[in-house]
Order: sequence, then C-alpha cells, then structure tokens
Amino acid sequence: MYVLDDEAAGQWALGGASRWWLHHSLAALRADLAERRLPLVLARGRAEAVVPALAEGVGASEVFAGRAHEPWAREADRRVAEALGAAGRALRLFASATLRAPAEIATGEGRPYSMYAPFAKAALKLGPPGDPLPVPEGLHPVSSPPGGEALEALRLLPQAPVPDWAEEFGTLWRPGEAGARERLERFLLRPLADYSAARNDPGIEGSSGLSAHLHWGEVSARQVWHAALATAEDDLERARPFLGEILWREFSLHLLWHRPDMVEAPLRPAYERFPYAPDAGLLRAWKRGRTGYPIVDAGMRQLWRFGWMHNRVRMVTASFLVKHLLQPWQEGAAWFWDTLVDADAGNNSVSWQWIAGSGLDAAPYFRVFNPVAQGEKFDPAGRYVRRFVPELARLPDKYIHRPWEAPEAVLRGAGVALGHDYPRPVVEHAEGRKRALDAFAAMRREA
Ligand code: FAD
Repeated sequence: MYVLDDEAAGQWALGGASRWWLHHSLAALRADLAERRLPLVLARGRAEAVVPALAEGVGASEVFAGRAHEPWAREADRRVAEALGAAGRALRLFASATLRAPAEIATGEGRPYSMYAPFAKAALKLGPPGDPLPVPEGLHPVSSPPGGEALEALRLLPQAPVPDWAEEFGTLWRPGEAGARERLERFLLRPLADYSAARNDPGIEGSSGLSAHLHWGEVSARQVWHAALATAEDDLERARPFLGEILWREFSLHLLWHRPDMVEAPLRPAYERFPYAPDAGLLRAWKRGRTGYPIVDAGMRQLWRFGWMHNRVRMVTASFLVKHLLQPWQEGAAWFWDTLVDADAGNNSVSWQWIAGSGLDAAPYFRVFNPVAQGEKFDPAGRYVRRFVPELARLPDKYIHRPWEAPEAVLRGAGVALGHDYPRPVVEHAEGRKRALDAFAAMRREA
C-alpha cells in the first residue's frame, strides 16, 4: 500500500519533480507486484485514518513499513502506530532506506555524530552492512483487497493548463526497480577507480545517477554497497571513493534523524542573524538560469529540463545563490525540493547548510566558489555549458565561461548579443565575493 499524505507533510509536501517520479515509480511497482498476482493499494489522505481502516478491512494484525526519516513522516508514523495500537494492531518499522538503523552508528558515549569523517570511520568499523534479502517466497494476496484509488486520481503528473514541464524527464529516467538495476549495472561496468575524477566532470556521465532510485527505495543502499564492493573484488580501498558518497547519504539521514529542525533552521545558531538581502528579481534570475554566469545557468537549466543536476554544479549554483546573491539558503533548498527528482530532506538540507556555512561540518565561510574558475577547471571545453546554454555554443573555449570578456567581433562571430540573447553577469564576481565576506563579518560582530 502507498498513502499520499500531503497534509502531514504540510509545506514539505512532495515537489513537482518528485511527484512525476512517484507516479512512474508506483506504476512500475504495481506492474511488478501484478506479476506476482499481488495488488497495490493506493490511497490519499491522513495515514492514521487510511492505514488502520485497510488493516481492519483485510484483517491484518500487523502492518510492516520502511522507516521514514523526515520529521513530518515520523510524526505520521507515530500517529499510525497509535491508531493501530488502539485497535490491538501493531506497526512494525524497518531500516530499509539506510545501511543501518539510525541508532546503530553512535559515538563511544552512545551519542550521534555531528561530523562526517568520524561518522564514516565508525560506520566502516562496524563492517559491511547486512546482505540484501531476496524477494520473499510465498507472498499471499489478501482474498478481496479494497480497491483504493486509481493512480491517475492521485494527480501526480503536471496537469493542464500548466505546460508539461516534465516532458523530457522520461528520456533520461526510468523510475522503478528495473530502471534502478539497469543504472547500477551500467555504472559498475565502468572502472570504479575512475570515479573520483569522472564524478567531477559535468560534461560526461561520470557518476551513477542512482540518487532518485535510492531516495525512492527502488534500490537499497545495502544493495548498492554490496554490488560496488563485489565489483571491486572486495577491495574496500578501490570502492572507497564511491562508498564514501553512500556514507554521505547515510550521514545526512543520521543528522536528519537526530536534528529534525535542520530542514528549516541553521545548525549553527549564529547563522540565524546572517544578513541575507532577499531580492525576488535575483532569485528569479537564478531559478531561470539567467544570471550571466554560464556554469550557473547551465546547472539551473539542467535541473529544470531533467529534474537533476550534477553534484559539482549543485555546489557552484548553491554557493552562487547564497554568497554572490546573498539569498537565504532556505529559498534555494525550497527550489531544489520542488524541482529535483531526488529531492531528499536529508541530503538537500545538509548540502545547503554545508554550502551556506551554517552546517556543523560546513566549508569555511570565506571559501566562496568562483563560478568562472569552477567552470574552467571542471568543464574546460565547455561541453556542459554548450549543451544547456545553446545560445553560447559557438563561443571559443577561451570565453565560454566568461562571455563578457569576449571582444565584440568574437561575440558577433558566435552569434551572441550580450544583454540580448544572453544576460550580462547579475553581479560582478569580486564585488559579490566582497559583499558575502562583509555580511559574514557583520554576523560575527553581532555574536
Ligand atoms: P553518485 O556520485 O553516483 O553517488 C552515489 C550516491 O551517493 C548518490 O546517488 C547519493 O545518494 C549519494 N551522494 C552522492 N553525493 C552526495 C553528497 N554530496 N551528499 C550526500 N549524498 C551524496 N542528493 C540527493 O540525493 N538529494 C538532494 O536533495 C540533494 N540535494 C543537494 C543539494 C545541494 C546544494 C548539493 C550541493 C548536493 C545535493 N545532493 C542531493 C547531493 C548530490 O549532489 C547528489 O546526491 C548527486 O549529485 C546524485 O548524483 P549521483 O546519484 O550520480 O551520485
């Protein structure tokens, strides 16, 4: 059974891109279950009403579910357990999203970790996570399952008259277990030893592309862990860079579990006073990929077209919003929440706080990503920019990340009229950097 409980999630109800994914993921799950002659019941509404009603309808004494980490979903789980308990039934939750249950990784004093490095060390010390389990044999469908809702009734896809902004998603993604398996296999055909360098090149498929499949539970972290380790012939060191990212995900969920407030509030309280300068125009330019910085704009447009953005570029675009444009990180996190197919309360909040400087493990505030230098280092021939910012495609490599420095004749030759086809920078880099550092100093003075 799947229950869509938007009311419980409130402002954190699933974003548009997540809904697109969920629709197709449920369709795939329904088809997979149908092959085993099992029904999938879909429902909308408050979980604490819907789940006990179904349990009663089919005479179930126990309800089994994967453990959620989001604070609103945990609250809903608590209410479901209470409602089931009142009727003499039980809710049994399992650590299906993570390598281990949240309490299993703790300091010597049994406390949660606040830093990634010691967390990862402790996780590795525990040895490999449990083996993934096979599909259970002998699953028996209930004799007369209640109908539930039709998938279409959940209205998860973009609805007319809104244009179908997700029309290209399906060319890149195949939600569901089969799609997840296919991606994992494809990724593991490439040498794991190349991952560290390849994952930083946005112009190629250098990372696994598994984030949404992992988020939606179509492949488990445990399956990915064991498959990667087997490919590396059990050589942990060889698989370590990739497994390190799986551990970042595990760490984000660990933090979310212990610090549910982090989805909205800075983990370092001093950042409550950070003097952001909210500006609707600048925020809009960032969202639409019209900041005048090619790598930033390419990232924002990749996000819009495919519901996903390369990790290196997520860092650059996020830093640009928070530092160069002085917009609150919560605005950026909310946009990502709405537009990412892998939107995840753990990874998204931890990453935004890391970039904004307010995370416990954050990069030092004075490290302001230079969007030109980042572009030139990680996308030297502008392959990524040319793909997502086609109006600049004919610029020579030398100017692809700094079109405003190109001589007039070069711009004309490439068919670019700056300020017309493509914007001039909304802020100059050195000025943006200085403003960010001044704002940081002002926050510290107030401390
Ligand atoms: P791979 O490089 O193949 O990594 C394998 C898996 O490890 C990923 O699928 C993901 O589950 C995990 N992972 C990789 N990088 C990170 C990371 N930096 N932090 C935590 N886990 C990681 N990831 C999300 O899943 N959901 C989000 O909402 C999200 N928001 C982000 C917001 C910002 C501002 C930034 C900088 C990063 C964010 N990330 C998020 C982390 C990262 O960008 C994506 O997980 C990654 O790009 C997904 O691509 P992949 O599956 O090819 O990753």
